Amino acid sequence: MKIAIMGAMPEEVAPILEKLGDYKTIEYANNKFYETTYKGVELVIAYSKIGKVFSTLTATTMIQHFGADVLLFSGVAGAISPTLKVGDLIVATKLAQHDLDITAFGHPYGFVPEGSVFVEADKRMIELSKEVAKEMGKVVQEGIIATGDQFVANEERKNWIGATFNADALEMEGGSVAVVCNALNVPFFILRAISDAADMDASFSFDTFLETSAIESAEFVLKMVDKLLEKSEN
Ligand code: SAH
Repeated sequence: MKIAIMGAMPEEVAPILEKLGDYKTIEYANNKFYETTYKGVELVIAYSKIGKVFSTLTATTMIQHFGADVLLFSGVAGAISPTLKVGDLIVATKLAQHDLDITAFGHPYGFVPEGSVFVEADKRMIELSKEVAKEMGKVVQEGIIATGDQFVANEERKNWIGATFNADALEMEGGSVAVVCNALNVPFFILRAISDAADMDASFSFDTFLETSAIESAEFVLKMVDKLLEKSEN
């Protein structure tokens, strides 16, 4: 088994690399990939840069070039659901692209022909995350994540995304990573810690809480790796 751990920004993968200590850096496709062996399993780690295009490229590269057969995403997100506060964790049950719009042709938001509005995340990994949450004594909310190439700092847009996709959180990479993993048959897990409420204070909140929320998410994802290893031994 080779596990990919992905983030979008340096701050999201730094806590993971710090924890792992020793790794090899490989430059490929205008990006850096970090490879290491952890408890006998190979890991490839990278941050993609922000947005759907870069995250598509990185997820595809981790699978097709580096041979990852499971992918875990760790990062931060804006909250839609009022039950999600800064630092809280959300696991995606399914993901959509909120900025994909060919509604002029009568299609729903987030849909293109031969695609689907939502991509479902791997159910087994969500189950494992419940065990991890229990062991860590953490609350992890499950919910729908909406992705788009836009930092949402606007109550009206946030509410529209919430209403249209029944989404609980929004960010800029999960939906595209989901499309890649689904197409390539790679089980994936998307975890986000809340950095802001996607409202008019979002950029300030984001800058204040990026690092601490990224650490929350990274610590949980590393425990997910432990859990995957524990289960593959049985
Ligand atoms: N401050 C950064 C830009 C951050 S963009 C810079 O100047 O370089 C926001 C990143 O965090 C994206 O990777 C996205 O996935 C996530 N995110 C957190 N809050 C968000 C929000 N309110 N809207 C969209 N993405 C958000």
